[in-house]
Amino acid sequence: MPRASRKHAGAPERPAGKARSARFADLHDGRRVTPMMRQFIEVKEQVPDALLFFRMGDFYELFFEDAETAAELLDLTLTARDKSGENPIPMAGVPHHAVRGYVDRLVAAGYRVAVADQVEDPKLARGLVKRELTEVITPGLILDPDSLDARTANWLVALVPGEQGFGVAFIDVSTGEFACADVADQAQLAAELDRLAPREIVYPEELDVVLQQELRSNPEQRWTAVPAAATSKAGAVEDLCDLYDVVDLAGLGLGELGPALQAAGAILWYLRTSRIDTLGHVRRLRPYRLSSFMVLDEATRRNLELFRTMVDGKRRGSLLGLLDKARTGMGSRRIRAWIGAPLLDPDAIRHRHDAVDMLVSSPDLRERLAERLDRVSDVERLAGKVASGRANARDLDALRRSLIEAPSIDVLLDRDDARAMPAFQLLPDLSDVTADIEQTLADDPPAQLKDGGLIRRGYHPELDELVALATEGKSALARLESQERERTGINSLKVRYNRVFGYYIEVTKTNLGNVPDEYIRKQTLANAERFYTPELKEFEAKVLGAEERRSSLEFELFGELRDRVGLRIPELGELAERLAVIDALLTFATLAVSHGYVRPVIDGGTTLQLAASRHPVIERMGLGERFVPNDVLLDHDVNQLMIVSGPNMAGKSTVMRQVALVVLMAQAGSFVPADEARIGVCDRIFTRVGASDDLARGRSTFMVEMAETAAILSGATDRSLVILDEIGRGTSTFDGLALAWAVAEHIADVLRCRTMFATHYHELCELASLRDQVANYNIAVSELGERVIFLRRLRPGGSVRSYGIAVARLAGLPDEVLERAREVLANLERDAEDEVGRPRMARSKTRPEPATGQLTLFGDRSRLLREELLGIDVDQLTPLEALNILADLKAKAARG
Ligand code: ADP
Ligand code: MG
Repeated sequence: MPRASRKHAGAPERPAGKARSARFADLHDGRRVTPMMRQFIEVKEQVPDALLFFRMGDFYELFFEDAETAAELLDLTLTARDKSGENPIPMAGVPHHAVRGYVDRLVAAGYRVAVADQVEDPKLARGLVKRELTEVITPGLILDPDSLDARTANWLVALVPGEQGFGVAFIDVSTGEFACADVADQAQLAAELDRLAPREIVYPEELDVVLQQELRSNPEQRWTAVPAAATSKAGAVEDLCDLYDVVDLAGLGLGELGPALQAAGAILWYLRTSRIDTLGHVRRLRPYRLSSFMVLDEATRRNLELFRTMVDGKRRGSLLGLLDKARTGMGSRRIRAWIGAPLLDPDAIRHRHDAVDMLVSSPDLRERLAERLDRVSDVERLAGKVASGRANARDLDALRRSLIEAPSIDVLLDRDDARAMPAFQLLPDLSDVTADIEQTLADDPPAQLKDGGLIRRGYHPELDELVALATEGKSALARLESQERERTGINSLKVRYNRVFGYYIEVTKTNLGNVPDEYIRKQTLANAERFYTPELKEFEAKVLGAEERRSSLEFELFGELRDRVGLRIPELGELAERLAVIDALLTFATLAVSHGYVRPVIDGGTTLQLAASRHPVIERMGLGERFVPNDVLLDHDVNQLMIVSGPNMAGKSTVMRQVALVVLMAQAGSFVPADEARIGVCDRIFTRVGASDDLARGRSTFMVEMAETAAILSGATDRSLVILDEIGRGTSTFDGLALAWAVAEHIADVLRCRTMFATHYHELCELASLRDQVANYNIAVSELGERVIFLRRLRPGGSVRSYGIAVARLAGLPDEVLERAREVLANLERDAEDEVGRPRMARSKTRPEPATGQLTLFGDRSRLLREELLGIDVDQLTPLEALNILADLKAKAARG
């Protein structure tokens, strides 16, 4: 078979011939199979839903449907085994040394992949080489950190419905982080799944199909069904007790859990059945409560561009892109986790701020910490590699170099300073592990484990002897070469070694006449012959024997070292955790200094007051316009609901998002872009921003808008922060205005949450005159002839004009269109005046007198009644007149 051609891309070549190619299922029809195929079937039946890479010689082969799928996805040539037979078996293969890349690509595409290896040395095997399933890789089960983004955790999530609510558990097998929670309802579950953005979700196969569809957020996420047995409570308890070697879970703080426990059990079940039985690094299952941090729903994360931008989905330009300047992968993942789950407890928030404060006040400390962290590798993922037996010598070397830094980092964090605790906890002492690796491992060891060079001289006497022998062999070889040159008179004679032929003496064709009789021919080349002698043979046995023994002894000693390090996985996990925190807080402090952030005052109140606040991302984008800071006050008394008006492009969306981002940064533990900030902790931040079609889920803009609004109205409490950027745009003007009005009223009267509401319905300004807690604001623009100049200043008062035509002009609409628009506008405004008898859309430049001018929100009838009532001077009425008026009003009301 022409192996070389298989790597080439191209249309899959269908197996030739009349017959249809065999399906895997056909094999059960009692078809006669070769012993090799029988071996394949045995393995495949253990992992029927995985694409199986089956090692054969220098290749990994896929068969049957697997071959067809892989050929298609990986651009492999599809060939066939048993081509001349009746039903050729489709087959595709990849060279063994390149298998990682192919596996990664399939896993990235959401497939489950299994690998079967030769588990005995083919040279020693009698008959068929033994092959076994060695690995199952799925998107959520990637142990090899090299296949992962260092800055993002790779979550595998399990969800299990309970009597009420759900249990969720999640693990990152590359680091061993393992946690679970009970969540109250589907909305919470959705928010949690969204926060974690898992690559793979494990669920009980009987889970409701509709629910699944509603929760599935992106097509690349893998959903894996597991049988009911995998989610049983008893099974979960047993597995967890086994894992942590306890008889009762209560001692681990897991006694109170509901379905969360089953979800954790499902994860362990899934790991086991996927052959991940090296669970050594799985950390203590951490139960957590959703009530201890702020739940951010999907819309809010998207609207605030926390992790990626709305325009192009990139990390650059998002809040994370700005804040993640961590020095280690651990720190990056921590910052991401903190942004996704801001804290609610004022004390917990203050502890982070304390630590940042301490770092901000000491440039020297920051510099020294940074220097050390720069030398630290991803201890968390290295520990994962050790635990799963995948760490090579370079990994342990990297671990050693990281561990060396730990004590000096610990010393730097002056614990006499009250601000240092409790965010910075003591680092565990692992100096004995450092010393052990140092004494055992050679300097700059190779990545390959089989070729020696791993272990330090002086560590093991027998190894030293073998090394001496091998080295001695090398000089003996040089001696032999010069001796033979002298004896034969052939100056170009060489004594050399290669893997296939071993040691040989090479003589060029022109010198063959001088070769002594006792040389035995070994191999003929184009212009040389290769020989050996009995003496060389004897030498070979000795040296090769020593080399081989040396390599295998080194491998063995390395394995022992790795196992010893493996015993300390829990402490390594703890170290990683604390280094991650230090790195994250150092990053916050560094940003605070370089970007001019201040420490916010955090309390349990309901005031949100920002002086000269800025939008953290936009202020750094360098858009050619200096960023104009703004003061904002939200509270429960006079500024509970801010109606923000102003023309398009004035900066409404920007200022509202910036308030939300400042709160979020503060509660995540960061300082904030403002001159001063006082923040009464927000329990949730809700946003509904702009119009974005959610085509993936087949909902129209207006539907999305209303769904997001509904979620806010049902979820917000009086402690929440709500950002509403336009409501009702996607429907007719009256519909839209009516909805916007009703929503604003509900927020002001019922929810009473701090809210900023940007709208182009000027009519909403009227609400401010009807409610004390509602205030009008607008973003200032000034006019220069036909031009508008954006001042970017948020100031009290409603705005009257939309400047739509002026903005359209800025955007470059043709003059004749603009001219026509002015005419139409003038007509419309005149009509509106005639209809209501007064200028409803007055072009006055002063603040509008609210209430009296804008009556469209109340029906005509009640308007007339009201006017009539207002016209009565109660002090001047006689009782009889009063009675008559009352009777009259009643009659009017009855007539409608
Ligand atoms: P609106 O929502 O009122 O239509 P945006 O908030 O989208 O306006 O702002 C439009 C643009 O104006 C932003 O993309 C930004 O470039 C700029 N901008 C907004 N606010 C400011 C500010 N305070 N300082 C400087 N530029 C700003
Ligand atoms: Mg806007």
